[in-house]
Order: sequence, then structure tokens, then C-alpha cells
Amino acid sequence: MAIASEEARFLPSSNKIVVAGAGGFIGGHLVQQLLATGEASVRAVDLKPLDEWFQRDPRAENIAADLQDLHACRRVLHGASTVYNLAADMGGMGFIENNKALCMLSVLINTHLLMAAREAGVHRYFYASSACVYNAAKQAVPGIPGLAEADAYPAMPEDGYGWEKLFSERMCRHFWEDFGLETRMARYHNVYGPHGTYDGGREKAPAAICRKVIQAKMTNDPRIVIWGDGSQTRSFTYITDCLEGTRRLMHSDVRVPLNVGSSEMVSINQLVDLVEQIAGVRLTRTYDTAAPKGVAGRNSDNTLVRQLLGWEPSTALITGLEATYRWIYDQLCVRV
Ligand code: NAD
Repeated sequence: MAIASEEARFLPSSNKIVVAGAGGFIGGHLVQQLLATGEASVRAVDLKPLDEWFQRDPRAENIAADLQDLHACRRVLHGASTVYNLAADMGGMGFIENNKALCMLSVLINTHLLMAAREAGVHRYFYASSACVYNAAKQAVPGIPGLAEADAYPAMPEDGYGWEKLFSERMCRHFWEDFGLETRMARYHNVYGPHGTYDGGREKAPAAICRKVIQAKMTNDPRIVIWGDGSQTRSFTYITDCLEGTRRLMHSDVRVPLNVGSSEMVSINQLVDLVEQIAGVRLTRTYDTAAPKGVAGRNSDNTLVRQLLGWEPSTALITGLEATYRWIYDQLCVRV
């Protein structure tokens, strides 16, 4: 009997990988990486309509579904052996400081995906956590030493978004302890690169600054507005390092959350210096100290990831920024 094409798409397969949040920045790159290995078939899922995905590859099964809904999670995890959860309602500081309830509702995605993964007999489950889980008191001044994994406790994470991440990490841990579901958790630190959000309110600092510098250049207006006083420090992780850390963690036996973050710390002023250098301009800076700016200092301590995975991110910030700048430049040129 012929099987309707809609049903055929959900036939079980022994090596089916589901990527949740595949229409977004990291999820889109992850699908490409998984397809390139050719080892498994990939089911890519996102809330956004298919034509709004940042990257969409016809070699994957591409499905638009709301993964806050348990039934949708059950449907898309049917026959899955591995799940990567990169789906979240999130963005840069401008978004997470003003949308705490929306950020916390992402708890439904991870909770329902875990429940459906357990029912489906999934072998391994990945959760994308964040440096926003770290105790805010340990990030009160610029230029702090890196945050080690133990610095998430006692718990005082970023309000809203960070609490959801910390709670979801613990949910993953308990699904392993109580139900034997193998879970892996990465704490990503500020991931950037091509094919990400660069405008609209959800963009993060590297993409926002590239866009502002490019627009200043295109309009011959030598002014740039910087959020905060520019002294806040961060490290930024290039997308290829993020993917490599994720791959190594998923293939490891490490069940504790691990930093996946660069330890090349810069102030926001230094980040602007680098983008100006790439663009070949010098702009006049004004500082919006009332704008959302997050913690004063944040960096990744990579002692544990080096010890457990024998690896840490290595892409120089200037190298990753050059590629990101070029990609955003091309996007803005198409619009003009
Ligand atoms: P992104 O916003 O580009 O991608 C997230 C995707 O999830 C979006 O495409 C969105 O449509 C989708 N989504 C939201 N709600 C959904 C739902 N109900 N059902 C299905 N899909 C839904 O973000 P990203 O930068 O690719 O981040 C991926 C993951 O990594 C997120 O969990 C994020 O919190 C985490 N993370 C990212 C960074 C970073 O710097 N990019 C840092 C730390 C943690």
C-alpha cells in the first residue's frame, strides 16, 4: 500500500538526528555540519515558516512546528536516535532584558522535548545552555577572570533567560539520573558568525556593531551609538568553534555542563576598534548608558573543557569578525 508522503516523512530510522531550532543561527550551521558527515539523516525543525529560516537544506527533512507543544515534540521525535535542542525564544541583551517571560517560556520546549525523547527511546540529547547561567555577583566588574563551570552556583543567573537555562540544565541532568537518558549540555558564550541575526532587535553585539559600522560607511555618517559605556568586557565565540565544541561534547562521556566559549576577552570599545579596523574607518562614538548592557564583565574559563575534551576554541576574534562583517555587508548591499 502506498504511504502518504506526509506520513512517510515520519517513518522511524535507526540513525535519525533531530535538530530543534534549525531555522536559527546555530541550528542552521549545525544541520550543515551534520549533513556534511553523511552519517545520518537529519530532521530539521523550527517554529518559523520555512521561507524565513536562515539556512535551509533540501537534503534534510525540514519541518515547521511549535516545540512548546508536547504533541509536536512527540511527532517530530518519532524514530529519532539523537536530538539537538537549539530552539529558544531569545536574542541579544536588548531582547532578553525586555522579554523575560517569553525567554522563560522556552522551558516548555526543553521540557517537552525531553519527555518526548524519553518516550521515543532517544540515545543522546544535547541542550544549548548559556554563559547567562553564571552568578551575576561574579561578573560585577569589567575584566574579571574567566567563569568556571562551578561559578553557576550559588544560583543568581541572568533574570529570565538565565534562570530558564539553569533550570533546563538541571532538567537534563535529572532525566539522565532518573530515566537514563544521556544528556549533554554546552554553555555557549556569545556565538557569532555569518547567517545570524544582525538587525530587528534580537541581534547580539558583534553583529550589531558590524551593521552599525557598515551603515555609517554606506551613509557617510561617521557616528556610532554604543550601548553602555563601552568598558563592559566579553568574549566572543566564532560559529566554527561552537560547532566543534558541540561535536566533541556530544561524542564524549561528559554529563556535566561545559563552557563552549572563547577566552579572548575584549571590551566593547575594543570590539568596535576591531570592526573599524576591518572597515577602514574611524567613527565618532556616543554612549547610551541607559541601553541594556548586561553584566560588567564576562569571560570563559576553559580549564575544564581542556581537561575533559582536550580542546578549546581557537579562532581569533579578528578572523571571525572579518567573515561576519563581510557576510553582513553583502546582506545590506542586497537591500540597497
Ligand atoms: P536563534 O534565535 O538564531 O535560533 C533559535 C531558533 O529557535 C529560532 O530560529 C527560533 O525560531 C526557534 N524557536 C523559538 N521558539 C521555538 C518553538 N517554540 N518551536 C520551535 N522552534 C523555536 O538563536 P541561536 O543563536 O541560534 O541560539 C541557539 C541556541 O543556543 C539557543 O538555545 C540559545 O539560547 C543558545 N545560545 C546562543 C548563544 C549565542 O550567542 N548565539 C549564546 C548562548 C546560548
